[in-house]
Amino acid sequence: MLKGKTALVTGSTSGIGQGIAEAFAADGANVILNGFGPTDAVERLRAQIASAHGVQARYDAADMSRPDAIEAMMRRAIGEFGAIDILVNNAGIQFVSPIEDFPADKWDAIIAINLSGAFHTIRHAVAAMKQRGWGRIINIASAHALVASPFKSAYVAAKHGIAGLTKSVALEAAEHGITANAICPGYVLTPLVEQQIPDTARARGITAEQVVKDVLLAAQPTKQFVTVGQVAAMAVFLASENAASITGAILPMDGGWTAH
Ligand code: NAD
Repeated sequence: MLKGKTALVTGSTSGIGQGIAEAFAADGANVILNGFGPTDAVERLRAQIASAHGVQARYDAADMSRPDAIEAMMRRAIGEFGAIDILVNNAGIQFVSPIEDFPADKWDAIIAINLSGAFHTIRHAVAAMKQRGWGRIINIASAHALVASPFKSAYVAAKHGIAGLTKSVALEAAEHGITANAICPGYVLTPLVEQQIPDTARARGITAEQVVKDVLLAAQPTKQFVTVGQVAAMAVFLASENAASITGAILPMDGGWTAH
């Protein structure tokens, strides 16, 4: 369905981003992977996506905390494919700490990667999308774009910020066949969540098992983790023609969490 289109997915060497990149490739799109990871593992992933789906797959190691690296990645991608038809801003990090101890460098890194990185990719992508009269911008926000949790000040601020960025870009691009939306997953069991379990346990003085049961899934009425496959399927739908009227939407996929 997306044959001939090119999707760039930031932070796609792991977790949700990898699932989204694989889903776009399965739907026929060329994909540009980005993110960190051991060179051989990333190359295996790139080659596997290309051969399994018969699409072009590239990898760009741009550090999403660096505006100059983002600009270079976007220039390379647009130079090769003419436009990035589908831009998925997914790269993200987390840090959990009480505000009075929150390290300022962690705050800066989270704002840079989770929020400013999306500003930079979007500003470089939009002109070529406008030329084609078609584009899809999909920001992977979080339930934390809609509600807060304690000890996640930088993450919650960045995710609320990306909701505002999404709406603003949607309004600017609406008459050019470009949509911009944010998907807001609840907890998905990826390395990002697995890593924060011990930190949350320390911050709250409880065990890892209690974090899963009483903190993570306590927020989700379904008592189930959201899956990578569900988020990827939503991203593919947002890229489809049937989603052309969905723009500026901040879409919860959180097992009912934000219905509270
Ligand atoms: P993950 O840790 O599995 O993957 C994060 C990806 O981002 C990796 O590919 C990593 O290499 C990349 N990355 C990190 N820093 C980067 C940088 N400076 N430059 C380029 N790439 C960088 O995490 P995930 O759970 O798949 O999270 C992906 C996105 O989904 C994040 O934006 C996260 O906030 C969001 N999200 C996750 C959950 C969840 O429960 N896992 C819930 C809601 C939203």
